[in-house]
Amino acid sequence: MLMHAISTGKVKITQNWQVGRGSGALRLINTLVDSRFTDWLPIYCWVIEHPEGLIVVDTGIPANANDPIWFPPHMRILQRAAPFQIASGEEEIGPQLKRLGFSSDDVRWLLLTHLHQDHDGGIQYFRNAEVLISRTEWQAASGFKGRMGGYLNQRWSWLKPKLIDFPPDHEGIFSGRFTLTERGDVHLVPTPGHSAGHLSVIVDEGTHQVIFAGDTSYTQDLLLAHSVDGVAVDAAAELDSQQRILTLAQAVPTIYLPSHDPDAERRLAQRDPVPVITLMQQSA
Ligand SMILES: [Zn+2]
Repeated sequence: MLMHAISTGKVKITQNWQVGRGSGALRLINTLVDSRFTDWLPIYCWVIEHPEGLIVVDTGIPANANDPIWFPPHMRILQRAAPFQIASGEEEIGPQLKRLGFSSDDVRWLLLTHLHQDHDGGIQYFRNAEVLISRTEWQAASGFKGRMGGYLNQRWSWLKPKLIDFPPDHEGIFSGRFTLTERGDVHLVPTPGHSAGHLSVIVDEGTHQVIFAGDTSYTQDLLLAHSVDGVAVDAAAELDSQQRILTLAQAVPTIYLPSHDPDAERRLAQRDPVPVITLMQQSA
């Protein structure tokens, strides 16, 4: 199946954001006050040319991503710790889709791994698509409580998403599995931890599976290191989600594609799976 990576701008985060330090409230404080930053990282969205219709996973950031956000007041502190780089509206997902030869109006399904601002920032381009989000994520992100939690929910006040409750996983790997396509080859699975209702998208290509993993970890190396980020709402759940992905990777060759991994586009192009030898060494 043809799949494409689109990077809408870049982000850098504090080193304690990439690899969390401490626990509880101290962990978040360490994340936000750190003055050491990562390199600029991609913000990937993904396009899947599925025979049943065009699928987009996540939507990146908008051109105004660095404009000051004054409500809630702590958004300014979050913005300092995770600055964006985006040149113009031409870098937003809508124009980039057009350059690939697609119209955002042609997208059948928009799947959102979660509703953080660097994943929902191009949502306005997809008013014809069926938008799927986990019910847990939607509930966490909605209303005043969601806004205080850093969700920019004014961006999607018009949105009527299909909210996903996950039926049991017949494969027994994840805590649930929602199958999207009639062919049974595209699945949404819960991978909570980074955010309350984070999900990942699995595309089964027969001999291997591709998993679009959002922010389950920021890179494949951090997945293999069992490393949890500094803003995870539930560090234990994030570790559990990572472990389930590693279990999948041991059962079937799995191409692991988190949103901010500079090597993810190459791994997709080459269908380069998680190195099972490393996994076997870890479990030995
Ligand atoms: Zn996130």
